[in-house]
Amino acid sequence: MAKKKMNEAAARKRAEKTLEESRQNLQQYSVKLEKMNDKLRESLNKVAEKDQKMYDLNQRLLVANKKLRELDRMKSNFVANVSHELKNPLTNIKDALSIIVEGTAGEVNKEQERFVAIAARNTDRLYRLVVDILTLSRIEAGKVEPRIEDVDLAVLLEDVIEDFTRELARKELTLDKNIQHDLGTVPADEDKITEVIINLLTNAIKYTPVRGLITVKLTGTREEVCCEIADNGPGISKENQKKIFDKFERITAEKQEGAGLGLPIARELVHLHQGKMWVVSFPGKGSRFVFTLPR
Ligand code: ADP
Repeated sequence: MAKKKMNEAAARKRAEKTLEESRQNLQQYSVKLEKMNDKLRESLNKVAEKDQKMYDLNQRLLVANKKLRELDRMKSNFVANVSHELKNPLTNIKDALSIIVEGTAGEVNKEQERFVAIAARNTDRLYRLVVDILTLSRIEAGKVEPRIEDVDLAVLLEDVIEDFTRELARKELTLDKNIQHDLGTVPADEDKITEVIINLLTNAIKYTPVRGLITVKLTGTREEVCCEIADNGPGISKENQKKIFDKFERITAEKQEGAGLGLPIARELVHLHQGKMWVVSFPGKGSRFVFTLPR
């Protein structure tokens, strides 16, 4: 009996000891957990701090971006005003030179006629440049609203191509047409899309060597129509393809007249219609300019 009691007392003591050890272990774990918790809280605070910094930075960037946009719009406004002011006197100079050449203001000898013709040619160039700058800066300043109507692009393309008959013949270029005529109409500003097509065709004719091939294609889906003007001219390298839609960028054009504003204007005009414009080209093989207009 006494032995049993002794065993029970020993077992209780062992259990108490184990319990005490577990309690101490738990306490140690609890301290460790507390430390880990502190560290976690510290890290969370740091993340929150960083988050706040990122947010502040983002806010500052948004403000800077807004300011830049505003400055850009002011610049475009300024350029639009200056070009507008230049256009009128240039028109007067052009008219005055025509009057001299026609002889209305008195007889002109051959030598004088030659110099006046040089002045007239350069005034025409300057006038075209000013008009292009004016157009682009007005679009950039948000001052151009397309006058939307229902336009049949197939008819429009045929008309524009016909206007180019002489230019094509002069360089003995072949123009292949692949125009789908049953696409119906798209909502568009006819004058502006005409300008886009004229721009692309002018370039195709300008940069394609004599007796080259130009292809005009028009296709469509339920969502959009797609117009392609391709040539087998010199083509444009991948690197330059990124640049040609930037203002004043001219690549293969040393001997050709132009200011490098045609493509930026064309692309902006297409964007005004929520359309897209891009180029696919391989040097030595030719270029394909494509634009789409949503229905
Ligand atoms: P511009 O013709 O007045 O130089 P654009 O903006 O119309 O200006 O064209 C920019 C440049 O893109 C041209 O200078 C030329 O280098 C290149 N480019 C445009 N169209 C073609 C084309 N069909 N083939 C080869 N290069 C072209």
